[in-house]
Amino acid sequence: MNVHQNIKLIDGKATSARVLAEVREQVLALREAGIQPGLAVVLVGSDAASQVYVRNKVLRAEEVGIRSLEHRLGADTDEQTLLALVQRLNADPSVNGILVQLPLPPHIDEHRVLQAVSPLKDVDGFHSANVGGLAQGRDVLTPCTPSGCMRLLRDACGDLRGKHAVVVGRSNIVGKPMAALLLQADCTVTVVHSRSRDLPALCRQADILVAAAGKPRLIGADWLKPGAVVIDVGINRIEEDGRSRLVGDVDFAAALPLAAAITPVPGGVGPMTIAYLMKNTLLALDLQQQAALARPSQEHAPCLSLC
Ligand code: NAD
Repeated sequence: MNVHQNIKLIDGKATSARVLAEVREQVLALREAGIQPGLAVVLVGSDAASQVYVRNKVLRAEEVGIRSLEHRLGADTDEQTLLALVQRLNADPSVNGILVQLPLPPHIDEHRVLQAVSPLKDVDGFHSANVGGLAQGRDVLTPCTPSGCMRLLRDACGDLRGKHAVVVGRSNIVGKPMAALLLQADCTVTVVHSRSRDLPALCRQADILVAAAGKPRLIGADWLKPGAVVIDVGINRIEEDGRSRLVGDVDFAAALPLAAAITPVPGGVGPMTIAYLMKNTLLALDLQQQAALARPSQEHAPCLSLC
């Protein structure tokens, strides 16, 4: 969507459909060249929400022509077994992306498992090599939700340079990578969190406000600068008027008259996350192809220097 066309709602469903169509086209071209991209999704345990997320990811992969390999392990799976599976997937050339669905059961060290995933197959962008690469502004695999938010922002605002972006939340999954991507796009970035002082005043400085606190309707009209572009990452289930419903971290009804553009919940950031998982799978394949091309020349380098 474009702010300049006076359309206020940032439609994540429509944008994600466009991203998925782009991915589908690229997959078709790859298949014609004899290449079949593959995504492995690993689920440990029977957490109900995780099962839904995994099912949706697998379905979406199939829709765009990416081969999906589902690995479901019992809740009592030990860490060594999981690490061995990750190593097998790292070594499998038919697997281009590996996603380990979080959270893992408490007896498994999440960090150790995420570090075991090859950085070139790390479609979630959680490996420290990719986190570091993002901080350095290199072309690496970056987390799907913030990457999806950047697409929505680019479509809504066009040029992001010089805009003041305020990110509410500092998690490794959303807040921190979001701030890094905004910085890479030449925004002036402020990150605020649960210990920040006078949050409303800090947020009122934002040309772009990204809310990722996980607190229902935390951000009201008095937190917004008129004309701000608001990206609401929050997904919170609340009971209201005897009904269960999903709301964001932004009080949507209060923010709508003030914002230049705003994402709804649901239908905003949510669909972008899966779309960017598919995009990251193709990016991972590309990075693997580049690495494979670079390898022989490195192997020959000592020989050349001797010749
Ligand atoms: P998290 O709990 O890991 O982090 C929340 C962050 O918000 C923390 O850094 C904390 O300091 C900050 N925070 C908490 N309360 C605050 C307050 N009152 N004021 C200011 N800052 C506060 O959560 P997360 O994983 O980053 O997720 C955040 C939200 O985004 C959740 O609602 C989650 O469900 C949602 N989410 C959505 C998607 C998607 O695809 N749309 C993906 C990931 C997360």
